[in-house]
Amino acid sequence: MRSHLLNDTTADRYRRSVTEGIERVAARLATTDRPFTGVTADDLAPRLERIDLDRPLHDTTAVLDELEEVYLKDAVYFHHPRYLAHLNCPVVIPAVVGEAVLSAVNSSLDTFDQSAGGTLIERKLIDWTARRIGLGPAADGVFTSGGTQSNLQALLLAREETKYDSPADLRVFASEVSHFSVRKSAKLLGLGPDAVVSIPVDHDKRMQTVALARELERCRDEGLVAMAVVATAGTTDFGSIDPLPEIAELCNHYDVWMHVDAAYGCGLLASLKHRDRIEGIEHADSVTVDYHKSFFQPVSSSAVLVGDSATLRHATYHAEYLNPRRTVAERIPNQVDKSLQTTRRFDALKLWMTLRVMGADGIGALFDEVCELAETGWELLAADPRFDVVVRPSLSTLVFRYIPVAVTDPSEIDRANLYARKALFASGDAVVAGTKVGDRQYLKFTLLNPETTADDISAVLGLIAGHAEQYLGESLDRAS
Ligand SMILES: *Cc1c(COP(=O)(O)O)cnc(C)c1O
Repeated sequence: MRSHLLNDTTADRYRRSVTEGIERVAARLATTDRPFTGVTADDLAPRLERIDLDRPLHDTTAVLDELEEVYLKDAVYFHHPRYLAHLNCPVVIPAVVGEAVLSAVNSSLDTFDQSAGGTLIERKLIDWTARRIGLGPAADGVFTSGGTQSNLQALLLAREETKYDSPADLRVFASEVSHFSVRKSAKLLGLGPDAVVSIPVDHDKRMQTVALARELERCRDEGLVAMAVVATAGTTDFGSIDPLPEIAELCNHYDVWMHVDAAYGCGLLASLKHRDRIEGIEHADSVTVDYHKSFFQPVSSSAVLVGDSATLRHATYHAEYLNPRRTVAERIPNQVDKSLQTTRRFDALKLWMTLRVMGADGIGALFDEVCELAETGWELLAADPRFDVVVRPSLSTLVFRYIPVAVTDPSEIDRANLYARKALFASGDAVVAGTKVGDRQYLKFTLLNPETTADDISAVLGLIAGHAEQYLGESLDRAS
């Protein structure tokens, strides 16, 4: 069994096994002609049922054969141009090389004595990101597992920086289309059930700052404590960007922590054409960025940044075995002092490889392409009488619905759209997302693949219309 340990004596096995795994994936990618096969959980379950984990196969080739059956053959492939559903990007090859290196060396980024150069690489990328944001010389941050964790940490710091008597008095202000992790964080941080004040959005799904000002004023009048304003730079559904400069002014006026959730919109930090759309982000006290959403990085790769490095002390605890107090005096860079995690992946290496091979402009150009594609998609939808499209994109999502000419019952239209999405998924021809606007069922394209074309969008719209019409036709038959 020792022959399976990765070390100086097993380099050959390592090379052969990993190459074999890579070959399988490469072969799959080469022959995948749809984003999905339409497999159901019921189809898959028996295949897994048959596998006895207490009877290993002892052979990598045999296990990879088995993996084809239970996973690779029917996986959802984000690289396919007709995968248009969630905020998953196709990944760039330099990042995948980084992934292979980081898992083999297996550094853990909690302490310098488990990572050495890895810690300095991560720090350099944090500094790079903070500079791109414009956070100033005192900025710092840390890589995290994702936007959810970044938001949680940012709000933890905000709470600790706020003076309050009872956590029940604390209020967090976020738009009605902000990410649900804001509410989840509030719960985890022990805030009351009414802690998150939902601020209405305008026609373009951007936070209404007049309403924000009113709520901040009301909070003060009621003797409650404003803990943070969460501005979203790229809402998950609409890609809308809250008016950051106005929000920054209000935060300044009311002396409230400003957090910018740029999990999605951070791609603009590398953009060659649209950087101005996140103007004002530099005023933030904290920022969430998800490189695994708009920097073409594999999951997971995310960071939380702060304008004032001193605020990260709220995440600092010392353990004798790991990062004793004296290490601070000795100026040993232990990232665990800034992180909610302890053992932590060296995800930063993927971004490092990407920036060193492609450069930020390379990433920005790809992101600009998907933003342009969304604009084209919007034009197609706006000109197509079969569809209603919600907002003109600031990033790369499109929220729309099929509207049949002959049907007026809103719940029937909802069902037709829901059906179209499910039928499309079952066919595997394309994968799209769904969401609600008000109470109504909508569909969503999240465009993160520069390989997707306007023709793909047209074709998928055609498929959606076809499925919806089929549903409505059958529904008429059922009624008669
Ligand atoms: C996706 C997203 C998150 C959550 O990020 P994860 O990486 O999925 O944890 C938070 N905020 C916004 C705006 C997002 O789009």
